Amino acid sequence: MVTPTVALVGRPNVGKSTIFNRLAGERLSIVEDRPGVTRDRLYATSTWLGRQFRIIDTGGIDMSDEPLMNQVRNQAEIAMDEADVIMMVASVQEGVTDLDEEIAMLLHRTQKPIVLLINKADNPEQRQLVYDFYTLGLGEPYPISGSHGTGLGDALDEVVSHFPLQDEQDEDDSLIRFSFIGRPNVGKSSLVNAMLDEKRVIVSNIEGTTRDAVDTPFVDEEGQEYMMIDTAGIRRRGKVYEKTEKYSVLRALSAIERSDIVCLVLDAKTGIQEQDKRVAGYAYDAGKGIIILVNKWDIAENKETLFDEMTMQIRQEFQYLSFAPILFVSAKTKQRLDRLPELLKMIAENRQRRIQSSVLNDVLLDAIAINPPPSDKGRRLKIFYMTQVSTKPPTFVAFVNDKDLMHFSYERFLENQLRRAFYFEGTPIRVITRQRS
Ligand code: GDP
Ligand code: GDP
Repeated sequence: MVTPTVALVGRPNVGKSTIFNRLAGERLSIVEDRPGVTRDRLYATSTWLGRQFRIIDTGGIDMSDEPLMNQVRNQAEIAMDEADVIMMVASVQEGVTDLDEEIAMLLHRTQKPIVLLINKADNPEQRQLVYDFYTLGLGEPYPISGSHGTGLGDALDEVVSHFPLQDEQDEDDSLIRFSFIGRPNVGKSSLVNAMLDEKRVIVSNIEGTTRDAVDTPFVDEEGQEYMMIDTAGIRRRGKVYEKTEKYSVLRALSAIERSDIVCLVLDAKTGIQEQDKRVAGYAYDAGKGIIILVNKWDIAENKETLFDEMTMQIRQEFQYLSFAPILFVSAKTKQRLDRLPELLKMIAENRQRRIQSSVLNDVLLDAIAINPPPSDKGRRLKIFYMTQVSTKPPTFVAFVNDKDLMHFSYERFLENQLRRAFYFEGTPIRVITRQRS
């Protein structure tokens, strides 16, 4: 399901990050506990009225070497590019300023819904003053207090009302959505273009793909439909904020979220870097299928040694991605790119595989026989049975006598046994432990 994005815009000091933190709430700290996940404070997930959404604090994208007016303009552009709903924030304590008017004017250009938050309305007198903000021409101003947390509910009701209906977002399982993710200059746009050269682009709409015009649909010879998800800067070259690191990470995260399968692009010349690990960790945590592409193989020297070296490094640095196939490619010569569609299809299939409970439990019994569950202080873990609860990624629940007796290493062992038995190449799988009372 596609998660709607909400962006916060407004001049400095109106309280954007205060509101962001409040919306991010505890969820953020939960997210931060998981390994590999971004600690980027400008991007968080929240829920209101049961609807999940992502929030971006555009003020958190550092452009401090730009003049204030440009910063604000860039932030408004980012919001218009990235968000489904824009929350403009102003402050009742300073009233309507020139900069507020400037931002409102920029936002008038977008068709996207805008919700106007007037912050720092900490008491009833101040709440009266918000009517001045009607002059911005952005509709009803909502008085809120970010520091007290008051008034946000009404504003969020409106925000959520603009989200696409849930069943409109239901995806067609036969369509394979994938993206090329990686640092600047590893060759993402070259790969997109190389793919399009080979495959016929189709102009007609594939079911459920109208939302993002920058994504590119195509079909292969066998009639399989694909959607190539737009990533950092592929279509929007030339904007100032493209170059900021946080923005490129943000674009990567949003592309990952919209993909079924992520092609992590590495550069044969520059190897693995910190940012590669961050986005790979995010893709893994999001449960996406993963292919590792080593690009620019045409200019690699000592290919035979490098092949072994890179493979070893990749397996070492991305230990949790041992399931991900590695492909050494060249966007320039198109070497091995013809293998990408078959890999994508294979992984898409693996991600949707459902295993019958009876078969699953046969494998479980075998696993327990090879390697008995751990015990602690005389109590042994008992696994009663296992069942698959979802796909994309395949997720299994193991019902046990005592959750505390389940160790990470045993969970890993079960996961490996499942992989061995059912062929889940290219996709993460999850084993969740539940205590049966
Ligand atoms: P940003 O630059 O827009 O992200 O603004 P911040 O969230 O950093 O807030 C700027 C200042 O306004 C900080 O000193 C906050 O404590 C203060 N502030 C934020 N929300 C409120 C509010 O609702 N009431 C009052 N009185 N101050 C607030
Ligand atoms: P992006 O920033 O990740 O989208 O990277 P680009 O696609 O713009 O590529 C960055 C640079 O690497 C460009 O100069 C490309 O021509 C070059 N490049 C991309 N792929 C390859 C490749 O497979 N082989 C070679 N030799 N150069 C490549």
